[in-house]
Amino acid sequence: MLPNVATTIRPSRASVANMAEECKMDASVLDKFMSLPVSGKIQAEYLWIDAIGEVRSKCRTVDANKAKLGDLPSWNYDGSSTDQAPGEDSEVIIKPRAVFRDPFRPTGDNILVLTDTYTPGGTPLPTNTRAAAMEVFDKKFPESDAPWYGLEQEYTLFNLDKITPLGWPAGGYPLPQGPYYCGAGADRSFGRAISEAHYKACLFAGLEISGTNAEVMPGQWEYQIGPCVGIDAADEMMVSRYILSRVCEDFGVHVTLDPKPIPGDWNGAGCHTNFSTEKMRKAGGLATIEQAIRRLGAKHEEHIIAYGEGNERRLTGKYETADINTFSYGVANRGCSIRIPRATDAEGCGYLEDRRPSSNCDPYVVTSKIYDTTCNPDSKELDIKAKSVEQVA
Ligand code: ADP
Ligand code: MN
Ligand code: MN
Ligand code: MN
Repeated sequence: MLPNVATTIRPSRASVANMAEECKMDASVLDKFMSLPVSGKIQAEYLWIDAIGEVRSKCRTVDANKAKLGDLPSWNYDGSSTDQAPGEDSEVIIKPRAVFRDPFRPTGDNILVLTDTYTPGGTPLPTNTRAAAMEVFDKKFPESDAPWYGLEQEYTLFNLDKITPLGWPAGGYPLPQGPYYCGAGADRSFGRAISEAHYKACLFAGLEISGTNAEVMPGQWEYQIGPCVGIDAADEMMVSRYILSRVCEDFGVHVTLDPKPIPGDWNGAGCHTNFSTEKMRKAGGLATIEQAIRRLGAKHEEHIIAYGEGNERRLTGKYETADINTFSYGVANRGCSIRIPRATDAEGCGYLEDRRPSSNCDPYVVTSKIYDTTCNPDSKELDIKAKSVEQVA
């Protein structure tokens, strides 16, 4: 059960930071135990998505020969402690959907098990956006084979006070943006150890992580998941976010996916979503890409609503974003809602980049919505409205 907030004395932010400092334990002592060999059994860390889109987990022992997706049991957790079920009927059922190696228990064949959430009656929870996304992807629209996604996850690191971005002077500001993007040096790169640890951990897990870079705002970083097909993109994104939380926990650093963590002249954080179908990737695919973009333009407001909370603070038309109220697209233009990469334009095929989703977006919602809008044959009626969507210079 959640504690009654009214009777709980809330610790201040500073004292939370102190508590975390005191809780830190000697990792080299832990290593002695983590490297103990175990046979016949493995540890399976079950991951699920909570009421606010964050990943929680708990662990169970599984027979080593039962560690495959079809063999892993469903399980449950106390949904009354996550605001996802009432106390008198508190069980949320979790069903395994994808399995990865566990980078936090590297000795042995331990696994991370991504699940989704159901009532005891078998209905997906309202927060189970994966189930809804699966319904869309299962439609397998004609001529829309192998929808590929490349998701660029930006994130911002903070001290444990949750006020000071990593590397920033307490109560002040660093030098203006410019040197930080992809920069090297102790005066401009803050948190590289986290980016590196996360990258390796994702590779170890078996995720399709395709790269990483330091961002424009100091203390802000990005990594890319993909290309992944269909539902895998969002599954892998959620697991990579979980790994990021765990890595930051180990380093005693706070990570946020807030789309505009520092107001003013500092870049926000997005989750650019790169997308293509088989047809778009083949010779002559540019026409299909442009049609898809115009369809996205015809449903701009609907997509914006689904693209993350607080995104209006980020999509201002400045700092490499397009204004939230105006749809636009262009070649190599980072001030547009949708960018056609230069190479795609030159080669006449490739992919599009939807730059609107915010860093805290729900990737199940975003990826399935793009698929539905651009590939659903019913969207043909959209094309009348879509005709008026024009490319900017
Ligand atoms: P940007 O230039 O916008 O910073 P990135 O290199 O950060 O782009 O990310 C591009 C992402 O798009 C990568 O994850 C890459 O794997 C993915 N990608 C590449 N080709 C395709 C494609 N045809 N369809 C979908 N995603 C793609
Ligand atoms: Mn990028
Ligand atoms: Mn970026
Ligand atoms: Mn991008």
